[in-house]
Amino acid sequence: MTLTNGQIAELLARAEQDEAPGTNRRTALHRASRAALFWPEEAHALAEAGPLTELRSVGPWLAGVIAGLLASAEPPPDPPEARAGFLTLAEVRATLREHPEWAAELRSDLQMHTTYSDGRASLREMARACFDDLGYHHILITDHSKGLPIARGMDEARLAAESAEVAALNRELEVDGDARRVLHGLEMNLSPEGEGDMDPVDLRHLDVVLGAFHSKLRVADDQTNRYVAALRNPTFHVLAHPRGRRWDVRVGLRADWPAVFDAAREQGKAVEIDGFPDRQDLDVELAALAGEAGVWISIGTDAHHPRELANMEFGLAIAIRAGIPRDRILNYLPVEELLAWAADRE
Ligand SMILES: [Zn+2]
Repeated sequence: MTLTNGQIAELLARAEQDEAPGTNRRTALHRASRAALFWPEEAHALAEAGPLTELRSVGPWLAGVIAGLLASAEPPPDPPEARAGFLTLAEVRATLREHPEWAAELRSDLQMHTTYSDGRASLREMARACFDDLGYHHILITDHSKGLPIARGMDEARLAAESAEVAALNRELEVDGDARRVLHGLEMNLSPEGEGDMDPVDLRHLDVVLGAFHSKLRVADDQTNRYVAALRNPTFHVLAHPRGRRWDVRVGLRADWPAVFDAAREQGKAVEIDGFPDRQDLDVELAALAGEAGVWISIGTDAHHPRELANMEFGLAIAIRAGIPRDRILNYLPVEELLAWAADRE
C-alpha cells in the first residue's frame, strides 16, 4: 500500500486547511499540493532513491511531512468533484513510457493560441516550437473569436490578417521545400444556445473550426439539449473542452454524455481532449464513453505559450487510458486526410 502523487496532493490540501491563514506552513502546503500534480515521478519511488527535497516546492519541513504521509500510507477521502478525475504528470509519464508509439507517430497539435488573441507568443514562435522542437508535420492555429473579449477575441478583419500571415508562412515553408504546414482554424465562441459569433462566410476559408462554450458554465442542471443544439450548428468541426471544467475552480457542465457523443457522431463532429492540465476535458472516463460512441477525437494542448505545448502529454495519456484507437484521432491523420475530413463536413 502506497500513496500516489494525486493522493499526496489531496492530503496536503487537507492539511493546509488545518493551518492558520497567513502562516508560512499554510502557504507551503498550498504550493506543494499544487506542485505534486506536476512532479515528474511518484514521490514514493523517489523516497527510496533520494531526498524528497528534489521535488518542486518541497523544502526540508515538507519533506518530513510527506515522508510521514508515505510511512502511514493512509489514503485521503475522495477529492471534491472539482479536483476529481485529473491525471498527474507522474501518471501521464508512466502511461507514455508504456506506449512510446503514441508520441512517435503523432503528427499535430490541434488547439493553440497566439498573440492574435490571448496567447503570449507570436504565430511564428508557436509554429517554430511545434516544428523544430516537437517535430510535428502540421499544426492548427485556433485563436479566440470576437465573442470572448476577455481573451482578446478576433473580429473578422483580424481573422483575415491572421489568415494572410498563415499563408505567408506556408509560402516560405514551400519555397524551402519544407512539407510542413500551418493550418488556420479558430476557437469560435458558442452562445449557450449553440450559436457561433462570426459571420459564417468568413469561416469558409478556414481549415478546421473549433466551437466552445465559455459562458453559463456553472449551471447545475442537465445541459444535454444545449449540446445537441450546438452540435447541429454546421459552422464548426470540433467541440473543444466540452465540459468547461477547471481544476479546483468549477466542475463544468453536466449532460447525458452517451447521448451527446452519439449526436456528435451523427453530425460528423469531433470532440476534443484538451490537454491543458487544469482542464483535462474530456477526462479518461468521458473519453472512454466517447470512444465507445465511435466519435472522432481531436487532441489540443490549448497552449498559450510555447512551453505549454508540452501539455500534449496529458492529452495523449488520457486517450491511451480511455482506450481510444489512434485511427479515430484527428492528430494522427496526414494533413491531406485531415483537410478532407473537415471539407466533408461543410
Ligand atoms: Zn476555450
